Amino acid sequence: MIGDHSLQVEVLAAEVGEALPGDLIRTDGFLEHPTFNSFHSETEMLRYLRKLSDKDIALDRAMIPLGSCTMKLNATAEMLPITWPEFSTMHPFAPADQTQGYRAMIDDLESMLCASTGYDAISLQPNAGSQGEYAGLLAIRGYHESRGDSQRDVCLIPSSAHGTNPASAQMCGMKVVVVKCDDQGNVDVDDLQTKAEKHAANLAAIMVTYPSTHGVFEEKITEICGIVHDHGGQVYIDGANLNAMVGVCQPGKFGGDVSHLNLHKTFCIPHGGGGPGVGPVAVGEHLAEFLPSESAVESGNSQRRGAQVSAAPFGSASILPITWMYIRMMGRVGLKQATEVAILNANYVANRLQDHYQILYTGAQGRIAHECILDVRDIKDEIGISVDDIAKRLIDFGFHAPTMSFPVAGTLMIEPTESESKAELDRFCDAMIAIKSEIDQVAAGQFELDDNPLVGAPHTAAVVSADSWTRKYSRSQAAYPLASLRENKYWPPVGRLDHVFGDRNLVCSCPSISEYETDES
Ligand SMILES: *Cc1c(COP(=O)(O)O)cnc(C)c1O
Repeated sequence: MIGDHSLQVEVLAAEVGEALPGDLIRTDGFLEHPTFNSFHSETEMLRYLRKLSDKDIALDRAMIPLGSCTMKLNATAEMLPITWPEFSTMHPFAPADQTQGYRAMIDDLESMLCASTGYDAISLQPNAGSQGEYAGLLAIRGYHESRGDSQRDVCLIPSSAHGTNPASAQMCGMKVVVVKCDDQGNVDVDDLQTKAEKHAANLAAIMVTYPSTHGVFEEKITEICGIVHDHGGQVYIDGANLNAMVGVCQPGKFGGDVSHLNLHKTFCIPHGGGGPGVGPVAVGEHLAEFLPSESAVESGNSQRRGAQVSAAPFGSASILPITWMYIRMMGRVGLKQATEVAILNANYVANRLQDHYQILYTGAQGRIAHECILDVRDIKDEIGISVDDIAKRLIDFGFHAPTMSFPVAGTLMIEPTESESKAELDRFCDAMIAIKSEIDQVAAGQFELDDNPLVGAPHTAAVVSADSWTRKYSRSQAAYPLASLRENKYWPPVGRLDHVFGDRNLVCSCPSISEYETDES
Protein backbone atom coordinates (compact mmCIF):
# COMPACT_ATOMS: atom_id res chain seq x y z
CA MET A 1 0.00 0.00 0.00
CA ILE A 2 2.71 2.46 0.99
CA GLY A 3 4.51 1.75 -2.25
CA ASP A 4 1.30 2.46 -4.16
CA HIS A 5 1.00 5.87 -2.59
CA SER A 6 4.50 6.95 -3.36
CA LEU A 7 4.02 5.78 -6.88
CA GLN A 8 0.97 8.00 -7.18
CA VAL A 9 2.95 10.97 -5.87
CA GLU A 10 5.61 10.35 -8.47
CA VAL A 11 3.03 10.27 -11.24
CA LEU A 12 1.49 13.45 -9.93
CA ALA A 13 4.86 15.18 -9.59
CA ALA A 14 5.63 14.47 -13.21
CA GLU A 15 2.32 15.98 -14.28
CA VAL A 16 2.43 19.14 -12.19
CA GLY A 17 4.28 22.02 -13.83
CA GLU A 18 6.64 24.47 -12.13
CA ALA A 19 4.43 27.16 -10.59
CA LEU A 20 7.15 29.79 -10.08
CA PRO A 21 8.06 31.85 -13.15
CA GLY A 22 11.57 30.85 -14.27
CA ASP A 23 13.00 34.35 -14.04
CA LEU A 24 12.06 34.54 -10.37
CA ILE A 25 13.86 31.35 -9.38
CA ARG A 26 17.05 32.20 -7.53
CA THR A 27 20.20 30.78 -9.02
CA ASP A 28 22.91 32.67 -7.11
CA GLY A 29 24.24 31.43 -3.79
CA PHE A 30 22.85 32.56 -0.45
CA LEU A 31 23.49 31.88 3.24
CA GLU A 32 27.03 30.88 2.30
CA HIS A 33 28.64 31.90 5.59
CA PRO A 34 30.04 28.74 7.24
CA THR A 35 27.76 29.30 10.25
CA PHE A 36 24.84 28.35 8.02
CA ASN A 37 26.53 25.25 6.63
CA SER A 38 28.76 23.80 9.34
CA PHE A 39 26.53 22.29 11.97
CA HIS A 40 24.76 19.24 10.64
CA SER A 41 23.89 17.38 13.82
CA GLU A 42 22.05 18.41 16.95
CA THR A 43 25.21 17.80 18.97
CA GLU A 44 27.19 20.20 16.78
CA MET A 45 24.42 22.78 16.90
CA LEU A 46 24.22 22.49 20.68
CA ARG A 47 27.98 23.01 21.03
CA TYR A 48 27.88 25.97 18.67
CA LEU A 49 25.17 27.66 20.74
CA ARG A 50 27.11 26.88 23.92
CA LYS A 51 30.25 28.42 22.41
CA LEU A 52 28.33 31.61 21.66
CA SER A 53 26.76 31.79 25.11
CA ASP A 54 30.17 31.25 26.75
CA LYS A 55 31.23 34.59 25.28
CA ASP A 56 28.31 36.37 26.87
CA ILE A 57 27.60 37.77 30.31
CA ALA A 58 23.91 36.99 30.64
CA LEU A 59 21.50 36.51 33.51
CA ASP A 60 22.39 32.81 33.69
CA ARG A 61 25.82 33.89 34.90
CA ALA A 62 25.43 37.05 36.95
CA MET A 63 23.19 39.92 37.91
CA ILE A 64 22.72 42.52 35.19
CA PRO A 65 22.42 45.83 37.03
CA LEU A 66 21.06 47.80 34.06
CA GLY A 67 18.84 50.55 35.29
CA SER A 68 15.61 51.60 33.64
CA CYS A 69 15.31 48.50 31.51
CA THR A 70 14.86 46.09 34.40
CA MET A 71 16.59 42.84 33.64
CA LYS A 72 14.50 40.84 36.02
CA LEU A 73 13.86 37.14 35.96
CA ASN A 74 11.94 35.85 32.94
CA ALA A 75 10.75 32.65 34.58
CA THR A 76 10.63 29.48 32.51
CA ALA A 77 7.07 28.77 33.66
CA GLU A 78 6.06 32.19 32.29
CA MET A 79 7.68 31.49 28.95
CA LEU A 80 6.35 27.97 28.33
CA PRO A 81 2.86 28.89 27.03
CA ILE A 82 4.18 31.06 24.19
CA THR A 83 5.56 27.90 22.60
CA TRP A 84 2.09 26.34 22.44
CA PRO A 85 0.63 26.49 18.92
CA GLU A 86 -2.67 27.74 20.37
CA PHE A 87 -0.85 30.99 21.13
CA SER A 88 1.99 31.03 18.63
CA THR A 89 0.19 30.32 15.37
CA MET A 90 -2.96 32.41 15.65
CA HIS A 91 -3.45 34.98 12.89
CA PRO A 92 -4.04 38.51 14.23
CA PHE A 93 -7.19 38.90 12.10
CA ALA A 94 -8.64 35.45 12.80
CA PRO A 95 -12.45 35.56 13.16
CA ALA A 96 -13.83 36.03 16.66
CA ASP A 97 -15.34 32.52 16.84
CA GLN A 98 -11.84 31.04 16.45
CA THR A 99 -10.14 33.25 19.03
CA GLN A 100 -12.35 32.90 22.07
CA GLY A 101 -9.61 31.48 24.28
CA TYR A 102 -7.16 34.14 23.21
CA ARG A 103 -9.75 36.84 23.87
CA ALA A 104 -10.48 35.43 27.32
CA MET A 105 -6.75 35.65 28.12
CA ILE A 106 -6.55 39.21 26.73
CA ASP A 107 -9.66 40.37 28.61
CA ASP A 108 -8.33 38.83 31.79
CA LEU A 109 -4.96 40.53 31.36
CA GLU A 110 -6.60 43.87 30.60
CA SER A 111 -8.61 43.78 33.79
CA MET A 112 -5.60 42.68 35.88
CA LEU A 113 -3.51 45.56 34.47
CA CYS A 114 -6.34 48.06 35.05
CA ALA A 115 -6.64 46.83 38.63
CA SER A 116 -2.93 47.26 39.29
CA THR A 117 -2.72 50.75 37.75
CA GLY A 118 -6.05 52.22 38.89
CA TYR A 119 -7.18 53.08 35.35
CA ASP A 120 -10.52 52.25 33.72
CA ALA A 121 -9.55 51.07 30.24
CA ILE A 122 -6.43 49.79 28.53
CA SER A 123 -5.22 48.99 25.01
CA LEU A 124 -2.64 46.28 24.44
CA GLN A 125 -2.06 47.44 20.87
CA PRO A 126 1.23 49.43 21.24
CA ASN A 127 4.36 47.36 20.67
CA ALA A 128 6.67 49.44 22.86
CA GLY A 129 6.55 51.96 25.67
CA SER A 130 7.28 54.70 23.17
CA GLN A 131 4.36 53.57 21.02
CA GLY A 132 2.19 53.61 24.15
CA GLU A 133 3.27 57.21 24.73
CA TYR A 134 2.27 58.04 21.17
CA ALA A 135 -1.13 56.37 21.55
CA GLY A 136 -1.64 58.03 24.95
CA LEU A 137 -0.86 61.51 23.61
CA LEU A 138 -3.17 60.90 20.64
CA ALA A 139 -5.91 60.06 23.16
CA ILE A 140 -5.23 63.33 24.97
CA ARG A 141 -5.35 65.22 21.69
CA GLY A 142 -8.60 63.48 20.70
CA TYR A 143 -10.10 64.41 24.07
CA HIS A 144 -9.18 68.10 23.73
CA GLU A 145 -10.50 68.19 20.17
CA SER A 146 -13.78 66.60 21.24
CA ARG A 147 -14.25 69.50 23.67
CA GLY A 148 -13.48 72.16 21.08
CA ASP A 149 -10.02 72.67 22.56
CA SER A 150 -8.01 71.84 19.47
CA GLN A 151 -5.58 74.69 20.17
CA ARG A 152 -4.22 72.79 23.21
CA ASP A 153 -0.85 71.61 21.89
CA VAL A 154 1.74 72.43 24.57
CA CYS A 155 3.31 69.46 26.33
CA LEU A 156 5.31 70.15 29.52
CA ILE A 157 8.20 67.72 30.06
CA PRO A 158 10.60 67.82 33.04
CA SER A 159 14.29 67.82 32.12
CA SER A 160 14.70 64.42 33.86
CA ALA A 161 12.46 62.71 31.27
CA HIS A 162 13.38 59.73 29.12
CA GLY A 163 14.17 60.82 25.57
CA THR A 164 11.13 59.04 24.15
CA ASN A 165 8.81 61.53 25.93
CA PRO A 166 9.74 64.64 23.90
CA ALA A 167 10.06 62.49 20.76
CA SER A 168 6.48 61.18 21.17
CA ALA A 169 5.13 64.66 21.91
CA GLN A 170 6.75 65.96 18.77
CA MET A 171 5.38 63.10 16.68
CA CYS A 172 1.88 64.05 17.87
CA GLY A 173 2.41 67.60 16.69
CA MET A 174 2.75 68.99 20.22
CA LYS A 175 5.13 71.74 21.26
CA VAL A 176 7.56 70.63 23.98
CA VAL A 177 8.18 73.02 26.89
CA VAL A 178 10.88 71.80 29.27
CA VAL A 179 10.32 72.13 33.03
CA LYS A 180 13.43 72.46 35.19
CA CYS A 181 14.53 70.06 37.92
CA ASP A 182 15.96 71.21 41.25
CA ASP A 183 19.31 70.14 42.73
CA GLN A 184 17.74 67.03 44.26
CA GLY A 185 16.55 65.93 40.83
CA ASN A 186 12.86 66.69 41.49
CA VAL A 187 10.56 68.66 39.22
CA ASP A 188 10.95 72.34 40.07
CA VAL A 189 7.35 73.05 41.12
CA ASP A 190 7.74 76.85 40.90
CA ASP A 191 8.97 76.56 37.34
CA LEU A 192 6.08 74.21 36.57
CA GLN A 193 3.58 76.69 38.04
CA THR A 194 5.04 79.53 35.96
CA LYS A 195 5.01 77.56 32.73
CA ALA A 196 1.53 76.11 33.32
CA GLU A 197 0.20 79.64 33.84
CA LYS A 198 2.05 81.02 30.86
CA HIS A 199 0.68 78.33 28.53
CA ALA A 200 -2.68 77.89 30.26
CA ALA A 201 -4.74 78.61 27.14
CA ASN A 202 -2.81 76.06 25.07
CA LEU A 203 -1.78 73.52 27.69
CA ALA A 204 -2.39 69.98 26.43
CA ALA A 205 -0.49 67.81 28.89
CA ILE A 206 2.45 67.09 31.14
CA MET A 207 4.50 63.92 30.74
CA VAL A 208 6.01 63.03 34.09
CA THR A 209 7.77 59.83 35.17
CA TYR A 210 7.06 58.39 38.63
CA PRO A 211 9.22 57.37 40.34
CA SER A 212 11.48 59.58 38.29
CA THR A 213 14.34 58.40 36.12
CA HIS A 214 16.50 59.93 38.87
CA GLY A 215 15.43 56.97 40.99
CA VAL A 216 13.44 58.95 43.58
CA PHE A 217 9.75 59.08 44.44
CA GLU A 218 8.79 62.61 43.47
CA GLU A 219 7.13 63.75 46.72
CA LYS A 220 5.12 66.50 45.09
CA ILE A 221 3.59 64.27 42.43
CA THR A 222 -0.05 64.96 43.41
CA GLU A 223 0.64 68.70 43.53
CA ILE A 224 2.27 68.49 40.08
CA CYS A 225 -0.79 66.68 38.68
CA GLY A 226 -3.09 69.24 40.36
CA ILE A 227 -1.31 72.24 38.82
CA VAL A 228 -1.62 70.80 35.32
CA HIS A 229 -5.31 69.90 35.79
CA ASP A 230 -6.02 73.40 37.13
CA HIS A 231 -4.71 74.81 33.87
CA GLY A 232 -6.78 72.55 31.65
CA GLY A 233 -4.05 70.01 30.84
CA GLN A 234 -4.09 66.22 31.05
CA VAL A 235 -1.53 64.25 33.04
CA TYR A 236 0.54 61.56 31.32
CA ILE A 237 2.39 59.49 33.90
CA ASP A 238 5.18 57.53 32.25
CA GLY A 239 4.78 54.09 33.83
CA ALA A 240 8.12 52.60 32.79
CA ASN A 241 9.17 52.52 36.44
CA LEU A 242 6.06 50.65 37.57
CA ASN A 243 8.32 47.99 39.08
CA ALA A 244 8.54 50.36 42.06
CA MET A 245 4.74 50.78 42.31
CA VAL A 246 2.77 47.61 41.55
CA GLY A 247 0.60 46.69 44.54
CA VAL A 248 1.75 49.76 46.46
CA CYS A 249 0.22 52.73 44.62
CA GLN A 250 -1.71 53.37 41.41
CA PRO A 251 -0.89 56.13 38.90
CA GLY A 252 -4.56 56.27 37.86
CA LYS A 253 -5.44 57.18 41.45
CA PHE A 254 -2.86 59.81 42.37
CA GLY A 255 -3.50 62.12 39.43
CA GLY A 256 -2.74 60.38 36.14
CA ASP A 257 -5.18 60.49 33.22
CA VAL A 258 -3.09 58.15 31.11
CA SER A 259 0.02 55.97 31.45
CA HIS A 260 1.86 53.45 29.39
CA LEU A 261 3.28 50.34 31.02
CA ASN A 262 6.22 48.35 29.73
CA LEU A 263 5.30 44.68 29.91
CA HIS A 264 8.90 44.03 28.79
CA LYS A 265 10.20 45.78 31.90
CA THR A 266 7.89 45.41 34.89
CA PHE A 267 5.93 42.40 33.65
CA CYS A 268 8.67 39.95 32.72
CA ILE A 269 8.70 39.84 28.91
CA PRO A 270 12.40 39.34 28.08
CA HIS A 271 13.79 42.14 25.94
CA GLY A 272 17.55 41.79 25.88
CA GLY A 273 18.66 42.56 22.35
CA GLY A 274 15.83 44.94 21.68
CA GLY A 275 12.51 43.22 21.55
CA PRO A 276 9.77 42.27 21.23
CA GLY A 277 7.82 44.51 23.56
CA VAL A 278 4.35 45.45 24.65
CA GLY A 279 3.60 48.99 25.83
CA PRO A 280 -0.07 49.01 26.84
CA VAL A 281 -1.68 52.40 27.22
CA ALA A 282 -4.05 52.73 30.19
CA VAL A 283 -6.50 55.61 30.63
CA GLY A 284 -9.25 57.03 32.81
CA GLU A 285 -12.89 56.67 31.77
CA HIS A 286 -12.97 60.05 29.97
CA LEU A 287 -10.21 59.01 27.57
CA ALA A 288 -11.39 55.46 26.85
CA GLU A 289 -13.13 56.25 23.55
CA PHE A 290 -9.89 57.79 22.21
CA LEU A 291 -7.87 54.60 22.64
CA PRO A 292 -6.62 52.90 19.44
CA SER A 293 -9.41 51.42 17.35
CA GLU A 294 -9.72 47.63 17.20
CA SER A 295 -12.02 47.76 14.19
CA ALA A 296 -9.93 45.28 12.20
CA VAL A 297 -11.61 42.53 14.22
CA GLU A 298 -14.84 42.16 16.15
CA SER A 299 -14.11 43.27 19.67
CA GLY A 300 -16.03 44.43 22.68
CA ASN A 301 -14.48 47.87 22.21
CA SER A 302 -16.23 49.07 19.07
CA GLN A 303 -16.58 52.58 20.57
CA ARG A 304 -12.80 53.12 20.47
CA ARG A 305 -12.00 55.56 17.69
CA GLY A 306 -8.35 56.53 18.13
CA ALA A 307 -5.89 55.89 15.31
CA GLN A 308 -4.52 52.37 15.15
CA VAL A 309 -0.87 52.48 16.20
CA SER A 310 -0.10 48.93 15.10
CA ALA A 311 -1.43 46.84 12.21
CA ALA A 312 -2.51 44.07 14.58
CA PRO A 313 -5.46 45.00 16.83
CA PHE A 314 -3.84 43.44 19.92
CA GLY A 315 -0.24 44.22 19.00
CA SER A 316 2.29 41.55 19.95
CA ALA A 317 -0.45 39.30 21.28
CA SER A 318 1.60 36.10 21.22
CA ILE A 319 3.81 37.24 24.10
CA LEU A 320 0.97 38.35 26.36
CA PRO A 321 0.82 34.90 28.07
CA ILE A 322 4.17 35.75 29.72
CA THR A 323 2.65 38.66 31.61
CA TRP A 324 -0.57 36.75 32.28
CA MET A 325 1.46 33.93 33.84
CA TYR A 326 3.56 36.36 35.90
CA ILE A 327 0.56 38.14 37.40
CA ARG A 328 -1.35 34.91 38.02
CA MET A 329 1.56 33.13 39.66
CA MET A 330 2.54 36.10 41.81
CA GLY A 331 -0.94 37.09 42.91
CA ARG A 332 -1.77 40.30 44.73
CA VAL A 333 0.47 39.51 47.68
CA GLY A 334 3.40 38.39 45.53
CA LEU A 335 3.30 41.45 43.27
CA LYS A 336 3.34 43.79 46.24
CA GLN A 337 6.20 41.85 47.78
CA ALA A 338 8.15 42.04 44.50
CA THR A 339 7.81 45.83 44.53
CA GLU A 340 8.92 46.02 48.14
CA VAL A 341 11.93 43.78 47.56
CA ALA A 342 12.90 45.74 44.41
CA ILE A 343 12.97 48.94 46.47
CA LEU A 344 14.71 47.19 49.36
CA ASN A 345 17.39 45.73 47.06
CA ALA A 346 18.11 49.10 45.45
CA ASN A 347 18.39 50.74 48.85
CA TYR A 348 20.63 47.94 50.11
CA VAL A 349 23.03 48.49 47.22
CA ALA A 350 22.93 52.28 47.69
CA ASN A 351 23.59 51.84 51.39
CA ARG A 352 26.55 49.49 50.92
CA LEU A 353 28.10 51.69 48.24
CA GLN A 354 27.50 55.11 49.77
CA ASP A 355 30.78 55.17 51.74
CA HIS A 356 32.68 54.48 48.52
CA TYR A 357 30.76 56.35 45.84
CA GLN A 358 28.56 59.41 45.83
CA ILE A 359 24.83 58.68 45.41
CA LEU A 360 23.58 61.47 43.17
CA TYR A 361 19.94 61.78 44.26
CA THR A 362 18.09 60.67 47.36
CA GLY A 363 14.69 61.58 48.77
CA ALA A 364 13.99 63.55 51.94
CA GLN A 365 14.56 60.45 54.09
CA GLY A 366 17.89 59.67 52.43
CA ARG A 367 16.33 56.75 50.54
CA ILE A 368 15.97 55.99 46.87
CA ALA A 369 13.25 54.24 44.86
CA HIS A 370 14.09 51.27 42.64
CA GLU A 371 17.39 52.47 41.20
CA CYS A 372 20.35 54.57 42.23
CA ILE A 373 22.70 56.84 40.34
CA LEU A 374 26.39 56.72 41.31
CA ASP A 375 28.05 60.01 40.53
CA VAL A 376 31.58 59.21 39.37
CA ARG A 377 32.19 62.53 37.60
CA ASP A 378 34.47 63.78 40.39
CA ILE A 379 36.57 60.63 40.04
CA LYS A 380 37.08 61.48 36.39
CA ASP A 381 37.89 65.13 37.11
CA GLU A 382 40.16 64.56 40.09
CA ILE A 383 41.81 61.20 39.39
CA GLY A 384 41.31 60.65 35.67
CA ILE A 385 39.49 57.31 35.84
CA SER A 386 36.31 57.42 33.76
CA VAL A 387 32.88 55.83 33.91
CA ASP A 388 34.03 53.66 30.96
CA ASP A 389 37.04 52.38 32.93
CA ILE A 390 34.78 51.32 35.81
CA ALA A 391 32.33 49.61 33.44
CA LYS A 392 35.11 47.73 31.62
CA ARG A 393 36.76 46.70 34.89
CA LEU A 394 33.45 45.21 36.09
CA ILE A 395 33.75 42.70 33.23
CA ASP A 396 36.90 41.28 34.86
CA PHE A 397 34.79 40.73 37.97
CA GLY A 398 32.20 38.87 35.87
CA PHE A 399 29.51 41.57 35.80
CA HIS A 400 27.64 43.33 33.06
CA ALA A 401 27.97 47.11 33.41
CA PRO A 402 25.13 49.18 34.85
CA THR A 403 23.49 51.82 32.62
CA MET A 404 26.10 54.41 31.71
CA SER A 405 25.46 58.11 31.25
CA PHE A 406 21.67 57.92 31.50
CA PRO A 407 19.85 59.93 32.67
CA VAL A 408 22.91 61.95 33.74
CA ALA A 409 26.06 61.96 31.58
CA GLY A 410 29.17 60.51 33.23
CA THR A 411 27.25 58.55 35.89
CA LEU A 412 26.30 54.92 36.50
CA MET A 413 22.72 53.86 37.21
CA ILE A 414 22.12 50.62 39.09
CA GLU A 415 18.78 48.83 39.24
CA PRO A 416 19.04 45.40 40.85
CA THR A 417 15.31 44.41 40.78
CA GLU A 418 13.64 41.97 43.17
CA SER A 419 15.09 38.99 41.30
CA GLU A 420 18.52 39.16 42.96
CA SER A 421 19.39 37.53 46.26
CA LYS A 422 21.35 39.28 48.99
CA ALA A 423 24.32 37.04 48.18
CA GLU A 424 24.38 38.25 44.56
CA LEU A 425 23.91 41.90 45.60
CA ASP A 426 26.87 41.45 47.95
CA ARG A 427 28.99 39.93 45.19
CA PHE A 428 28.22 42.97 43.02
CA CYS A 429 28.88 45.45 45.84
CA ASP A 430 32.17 43.67 46.66
CA ALA A 431 33.24 44.15 43.05
CA MET A 432 32.29 47.83 43.04
CA ILE A 433 34.11 48.39 46.35
CA ALA A 434 37.23 46.56 45.09
CA ILE A 435 37.16 48.78 42.00
CA LYS A 436 36.96 51.85 44.19
CA SER A 437 40.00 50.69 46.10
CA GLU A 438 41.90 50.35 42.80
CA ILE A 439 40.82 53.90 41.95
CA ASP A 440 42.15 55.03 45.34
CA GLN A 441 45.45 53.30 44.58
CA VAL A 442 45.67 55.25 41.32
CA ALA A 443 44.97 58.45 43.26
CA ALA A 444 47.70 57.52 45.78
CA GLY A 445 50.23 56.87 43.01
CA GLN A 446 50.46 53.11 43.71
CA PHE A 447 49.16 52.49 40.19
CA GLU A 448 50.11 54.65 37.23
CA LEU A 449 47.39 56.70 35.62
CA ASP A 450 47.96 55.35 32.12
CA ASP A 451 48.84 51.76 33.08
CA ASN A 452 46.60 50.28 35.77
CA PRO A 453 44.01 47.48 36.05
CA LEU A 454 41.19 49.94 35.28
CA VAL A 455 42.40 51.47 32.04
CA GLY A 456 43.77 48.04 31.01
CA ALA A 457 40.43 46.30 31.50
CA PRO A 458 38.97 43.99 30.46
CA HIS A 459 41.70 41.35 30.50
CA THR A 460 41.35 38.36 28.19
CA ALA A 461 42.83 34.93 29.00
CA ALA A 462 45.22 35.38 26.05
CA VAL A 463 46.60 38.62 27.48
CA VAL A 464 46.92 37.35 31.05
CA SER A 465 48.55 34.04 30.05
CA ALA A 466 50.84 35.44 27.33
CA ASP A 467 54.58 34.68 27.64
CA SER A 468 55.35 38.33 27.99
CA TRP A 469 53.67 40.69 30.42
CA THR A 470 54.77 44.30 30.37
CA ARG A 471 52.02 46.00 32.34
CA LYS A 472 52.82 47.76 35.60
CA TYR A 473 50.49 45.66 37.74
CA SER A 474 50.46 41.94 38.34
CA ARG A 475 48.73 39.27 36.30
CA SER A 476 46.80 38.09 39.33
CA GLN A 477 45.61 41.64 40.01
CA ALA A 478 44.41 41.74 36.40
CA ALA A 479 42.51 38.45 36.41
CA TYR A 480 41.72 37.66 40.04
CA PRO A 481 41.28 40.94 41.93
CA LEU A 482 39.01 39.11 44.39
CA ALA A 483 39.86 35.67 45.75
CA SER A 484 36.30 34.49 45.08
CA LEU A 485 36.94 34.82 41.33
CA ARG A 486 39.29 31.81 41.43
CA GLU A 487 36.29 29.61 41.95
CA ASN A 488 34.11 31.11 39.20
CA LYS A 489 35.80 33.21 36.53
CA TYR A 490 34.34 34.76 33.40
CA TRP A 491 36.90 35.35 30.66
CA PRO A 492 35.99 38.16 28.29
CA PRO A 493 36.42 37.14 24.63
CA VAL A 494 37.88 40.52 23.60
CA GLY A 495 39.93 43.25 25.19
CA ARG A 496 39.15 46.95 25.14
CA LEU A 497 37.98 48.63 21.98
CA ASP A 498 38.01 52.37 21.60
CA HIS A 499 34.27 53.14 21.36
CA VAL A 500 34.37 55.96 18.87
CA PHE A 501 37.14 54.49 16.74
CA GLY A 502 35.36 51.13 16.72
CA ASP A 503 32.03 52.69 15.78
CA ARG A 504 33.56 54.60 12.90
CA ASN A 505 35.75 51.80 11.56
CA LEU A 506 33.57 48.77 11.14
CA VAL A 507 35.42 45.56 10.40
CA CYS A 508 33.58 42.78 8.64
CA SER A 509 34.33 39.49 10.39
CA CYS A 510 32.96 37.34 7.56
CA PRO A 511 35.56 34.80 6.41
CA SER A 512 35.93 36.32 2.97
CA ILE A 513 37.39 39.56 4.33
CA SER A 514 40.42 39.22 2.05
CA GLU A 515 38.10 39.76 -0.89
CA TYR A 516 37.50 43.25 0.36
CA GLU A 517 41.20 44.02 0.73
CA THR A 518 42.52 46.65 -1.62
CA ASP A 519 46.09 47.04 -2.83
CA GLU A 520 46.62 50.21 -0.81
CA SER A 521 46.02 48.46 2.54
C1 LIG B 1 12.07 52.40 28.68
C2 LIG B 1 11.42 53.70 28.92
C3 LIG B 1 10.57 54.29 27.95
C4 LIG B 1 10.38 53.74 26.56
O1 LIG B 1 9.92 52.44 26.48
P1 LIG B 1 10.32 51.51 25.23
O2 LIG B 1 9.54 50.28 25.44
O3 LIG B 1 11.80 51.33 25.27
O4 LIG B 1 9.89 52.24 23.98
C5 LIG B 1 9.95 55.48 28.29
N1 LIG B 1 10.14 56.08 29.48
C6 LIG B 1 10.96 55.55 30.42
C7 LIG B 1 11.14 56.25 31.73
C8 LIG B 1 11.64 54.35 30.16
O5 LIG B 1 12.46 53.84 31.09
